[in-house]
Amino acid sequence: MIQQRIEVAPGLIVVRVAPDGWELPEFAAGQFAVLGLPPEAPRCKHSDPEEEVSKPGRLIRRAYSIASSSVAREYLEFYITLVRSGGLTPRLFALQPGDRLWMGPKITGNFTLDQAPADSNLVLVATGTGLAPYMSMLRTMLPEAGERRIAVLLGARHSWDLGYQSELVTMDRLSGAFTYRAIISRPAEEPVSWAGPSGYVQDLWRSGEVEKGWGFEPTPENTGVFLCGNPAMIDDMVGALGDQGFREHSRKEPGEIFVERYW
Ligand SMILES: Cc1cc2nc3c(=O)[nH]c(=O)nc-3n(C[C@H](O)[C@H](O)[C@H](O)COP(=O)(O)OP(=O)(O)OC[C@H]3O[C@@H](n4cnc5c(N)ncnc54)[C@H](O)[C@@H]3O)c2cc1C
Repeated sequence: MIQQRIEVAPGLIVVRVAPDGWELPEFAAGQFAVLGLPPEAPRCKHSDPEEEVSKPGRLIRRAYSIASSSVAREYLEFYITLVRSGGLTPRLFALQPGDRLWMGPKITGNFTLDQAPADSNLVLVATGTGLAPYMSMLRTMLPEAGERRIAVLLGARHSWDLGYQSELVTMDRLSGAFTYRAIISRPAEEPVSWAGPSGYVQDLWRSGEVEKGWGFEPTPENTGVFLCGNPAMIDDMVGALGDQGFREHSRKEPGEIFVERYW
């Protein structure tokens, strides 16, 4: 059931989904759940008409990273962008608090912090809603980060698409271990001129923002890099990181780059 729905910007929502009559399983920060609605569910106002209508009665299901702490277990929070032509998101965006939807009972995924050595510093790079798993990680572990340095690099089109901005800025101010940097790619569309950097999130990495925040250079020996969201960003970052000696992690060959592709 939808417990809360916050419109962050047009086409961008934070929703809290509470299980109705069953208990959420334990999960690790960074994992995802599956949400679903039947094709008969109405689509929101600002969506495109569907080209291909799904079979009646067959649930349209998609994966969503959990943004809430793994300690808060009464609800799961999700950070979702509207794909106007999409099958599920126009239907999810039409839901209001109290409405029901399907949530899979299994929470899975390998995009979790235990992939990286427990003492390595962390650079968490996201485009758009790729920030969701990092919110769960930070909300779960930032207070106990200890000596570990953590940086979030976030890219979006506009300043109003930088979700969780105030929470991240507050974390940056309160925690000496944490650095937050955001960048936007369409500064010309800002009604009030944007004082921050413009370009792609990869530019924040290339311009040494993490080193400026931490006071030392992130290297494959001292840092794990997580990449989440747009696959083009991920490919570009894997290339840039590869030039600096970072390798993509796999079960067979351990490395320092961990990826979650949203499509
Ligand atoms: C492990 C995992 C976790 C995910 N977590 C999230 C999440 O936390 N928040 C979220 O919004 N999406 C997330 N996604 C994407 C999500 O599963 C759906 O693909 C997305 O919501 C579109 O569904 P749809 O049915 O509306 O569109 P579809 O009809 O399935 O159309 C898919 C197309 O939409 C575009 N697209 C998909 N996801 C995004 C996105 N996030 N931003 C911009 N364009 C997109 C791509 O062009 C893709 O080819 C995740 C995907 C995976 C695999």
